[in-house]
Amino acid sequence: MADLRELYQSVIIDHGKNPRNFHKLGHPSCCAEGYNPLCGDQLKLYLNLENDVVLDACFEGNGCAISQASASLMTEQLKGKTVTEVKELFAKVHLMLTENVTDTESLGKIAVLSGVREFPARVKCATLAWHTLIAALNQQHEPVSTE
Ligand code: ZN
Repeated sequence: MADLRELYQSVIIDHGKNPRNFHKLGHPSCCAEGYNPLCGDQLKLYLNLENDVVLDACFEGNGCAISQASASLMTEQLKGKTVTEVKELFAKVHLMLTENVTDTESLGKIAVLSGVREFPARVKCATLAWHTLIAALNQQHEPVSTE
């Protein structure tokens, strides 16, 4: 994918400026907070689940464009997925960001996040939302830190 870098930049700018699902949920089934002290990114993720299926996913936060865009792209993909599917998606994204293994076919739009590997210092910005997601599913109450 020769255009991945260009696509990466335009998607990060777009989602960083206009994050999707950027709001609070009044009565979430679960929520978690994440913090990336290296960059100062923070976010709070809210999930509504019914019978192990994600009905709604949204977040609030502030930080760099990569952290916000990653959370935005992530919440777009979660609706309708089972908890097991969400955990599989996390595993694939984690592998993509940390081990250089990109399953572009099943990751779809999220694959653009692989562009962050060119900036190793920013990888934690991209993984923050995903670690926060797992913390929410595990009903973890202490904030997650990437450090
Ligand atoms: Zn960041």
